[in-house]
Amino acid sequence: MYISTRGNYEAVSAAEAILLGMVPAGGLFVPQDLPSITKDQLKELVGKAYQQVARFLLPLFLEGFTQEEIDFCIEKAYNHKNFYHPQLAPLHKMEDNIFFLELWHGPTAAFKDMALQIIPYFLSLAKKKAGEEKETVILVATSGDTGKAALEGFKDVQGIKIVVFYPYQGVSQIQELQMVTTDGSNTFVVAVEGNFDDCQNAVKTIFKDANFKSKLQEAGFKLSSANSINWGRLLPQIVYYFWAYLRLIAEGEISWGEEINFVVPTGNFGNILAAWYASSMGLPVYKLICASNENKVLTDFFNTGKYDRNRPFKQTNSPSMDILISSNLERFLFEVSGHDAGRVGEWMEKLQQTGCFSVDPLLKEKMLGIIAPGFATEEDTLQTIKDTYFEKGYTIDTHTAVGLKVYREYSSMTGDKRKTVIAATASPFKFASSVLEAIKGGDFIRGKNELLILKELSEISKMPVHPALRDLEQKKVRHRTLCKREEIREQVEHILQL
Ligand SMILES: *Cc1c(COP(=O)(O)O)cnc(C)c1O
Repeated sequence: MYISTRGNYEAVSAAEAILLGMVPAGGLFVPQDLPSITKDQLKELVGKAYQQVARFLLPLFLEGFTQEEIDFCIEKAYNHKNFYHPQLAPLHKMEDNIFFLELWHGPTAAFKDMALQIIPYFLSLAKKKAGEEKETVILVATSGDTGKAALEGFKDVQGIKIVVFYPYQGVSQIQELQMVTTDGSNTFVVAVEGNFDDCQNAVKTIFKDANFKSKLQEAGFKLSSANSINWGRLLPQIVYYFWAYLRLIAEGEISWGEEINFVVPTGNFGNILAAWYASSMGLPVYKLICASNENKVLTDFFNTGKYDRNRPFKQTNSPSMDILISSNLERFLFEVSGHDAGRVGEWMEKLQQTGCFSVDPLLKEKMLGIIAPGFATEEDTLQTIKDTYFEKGYTIDTHTAVGLKVYREYSSMTGDKRKTVIAATASPFKFASSVLEAIKGGDFIRGKNELLILKELSEISKMPVHPALRDLEQKKVRHRTLCKREEIREQVEHILQL
């Protein structure tokens, strides 16, 4: 069963948690108890394909779904039509103890595909189980990557409409083109004059608005979410942390029970939280290295115990991490406080009212027992891409570079030599101009459009352009709506013809 982080809702089934997206009165659904995985169970999985690891892990969190149903979802999502690498998420060894988990071989070139390819199938099944006949409206706020991944996952899925809000001029040109060229009869994309937090706040406000919801109900609609506030988004992400560990075992890089580190370039705290769940289920993890960009609200939080979003929002060259309110921290706080829903509720209330809250030193120390926080500047990011290219012959994107930079600092400060897996969250082609700028210099890219830049990056990286990003210039722009941040709700009304 799933319970609310704020103790303000009854326990619900997996299907209901996925359908609702978030707790109606505010709060997020979390598993009441976490399953644990034994060493013997893990041993069974060594050398197995990604799909088989998923097949073992997903049912542990999806009571009420049959194994056949889950197998169907896995087959539909994780196949070689959607993913361009035979292993789905291969490990790339860069140094004796540094590995990149390439999570970007899916249809939109970012790790979000790992979850957003499968969640539409979960959602359709959940609807069937709940006897839900209303049309589902998925509202998505995106800092760039979720939007396209969700559009691809949900397009043309029966009984579902998807509406994506992204910050106007707050995403890369490629990200924007990917979104506005989406086809499908049920897709809507709206640019917002504001930043990601504005988009996310507006969406969360709509979710909490009981009047609006009853208006929707009357019109035959029901809301849900594909952001990582939805448990169905986090769950598939747990799989690849187990998968990475199993690959290291299979390749003889680690021995049974050996602890490893994960480095996760972090924005909304969803991806790293999935790693935390994996470790709590028994995966041998030493540290989760939480890598931020200059919007380093999380680095400061873990170092001081005070979360403070009252600071300038920075647009950086790792835009998918340009976030000041990391929604999934709420789930983490619930877990590390020993399911203290009362305190979590107070912190979140304070955050909403004043933009900040503080936890006590004891809790802070507890968090630092597993989390190692750090951040990288834009300059660090470019330098890291350059060094990695010239010294290691490996091309990484800006978000992944933030992870590597923070890891380098961590390992030189602590001397920790444990094997470490860095989540490579996007293909370098997705942020091609920043990556090419890093390698060839700012002058080299000046005046070139992003599509030419893709070609040049392909030449110097000796990698083909990611299939998701080929031929973007030939695609028709299908979405041109721009709205003010106060108009997000009106846009939803307009799109649904309420
Ligand atoms: C979404 C995203 C992140 C941040 O992930 P969270 O789960 O929000 O912390 C990092 N890198 C890339 C490329 C992303 O698309």
